Amino acid sequence: MAVEMSDQQRLTVVVPFFNEMDSLPLLHEELHKAFSSVSCSCWIVYVDDGSSDTSWELVSRWALNGECEAIRFVRNFGKEAAIRAGLQEVPEGAAVVMDADMQHPPEILPKMVSEWMQSDAWVVEARKAGSARRGLFNELGARCVYYFMYLVTGIHFDGRSDFCLLDAKVVSLINQMPEKVTFFRGVVSWFGFPAKQVYFEVPERKYGSSKWSFVKLVNLAIDMITGFTTIPLSIVTCFSFLFLCFSGVLILHTLYMFFSGQAVEGFTTVIICILLVGSVLAGGMGILGQYLARIYEEVKKRPMFAVREVIRKSSNKAS
Ligand code: UDP
Ligand code: MG
Repeated sequence: MAVEMSDQQRLTVVVPFFNEMDSLPLLHEELHKAFSSVSCSCWIVYVDDGSSDTSWELVSRWALNGECEAIRFVRNFGKEAAIRAGLQEVPEGAAVVMDADMQHPPEILPKMVSEWMQSDAWVVEARKAGSARRGLFNELGARCVYYFMYLVTGIHFDGRSDFCLLDAKVVSLINQMPEKVTFFRGVVSWFGFPAKQVYFEVPERKYGSSKWSFVKLVNLAIDMITGFTTIPLSIVTCFSFLFLCFSGVLILHTLYMFFSGQAVEGFTTVIICILLVGSVLAGGMGILGQYLARIYEEVKKRPMFAVREVIRKSSNKAS
């Protein structure tokens, strides 16, 4: 007898990918294996973030066979945009967001689903218990940004990943967010939804290499900071106040020297003052510029991505 599934028991796995032709067949197979031990109706939405390899040929074939849904961007818009596009295709029920490179092991899906079903959690986060090696430079940079974020927001980002299960309420809230420049895992943590955690060891990437270049990582860190805190702006204000005090003391000292008939010593003082004030001014303008750029991105109201092709279940035809 067919069992009628409620909306709550539907699960859509959203997989953003960019040039993952080697990992996708294994992921597709492992996901279907995991689905067989999950007690709800499962579906996959693959989002091709402008791949230039044969990834699209693979997922479009599966989509035409009715095994999944496939969305293809016109170009590479970034993982964040791909996640948002995928979540917009979640018809009802919960969603799981995961990477395509097998660094988010599909075998922990059943555990995530049972945590969600047996609790009143809106989010089940898959947290990294141990990490695959990152470069020393990336590791150090990530730790500094995470620690700064913890100091200013109180949210621990270390160990968090984009791998998570989101209840229908969370999916609908994220889909209603007008904000374009987002940091997905930050948004989920910032809301502070009732959450459960499941831990996993991050395996080394089997195929291909990380798609994050140093520049992309720096931009992500800037989005993360400007998107969740205005503390850097307050730091600029604090510095200007400190400099005001420092200037007051220096002016008094210079006037005293002048009226007592002594000259202020040499160029060294002048050069140090110019360099110090110049760098603080430039730094302050840089910080202001980052927030301005963020506002500019948001007010343009340009779509986050452009879709070239979608193959949905209903039609199994490209549109
Ligand atoms: N990805 C994407 N668009 C991009 C970069 C990455 O959709 O511009 C996907 C990528 O294919 C993978 C996931 O995002 O499915 C995580 O990327 P990656 O493994 O390179 O990141 P890391 O694991 O090193 O953080
Ligand atoms: Mg990866």
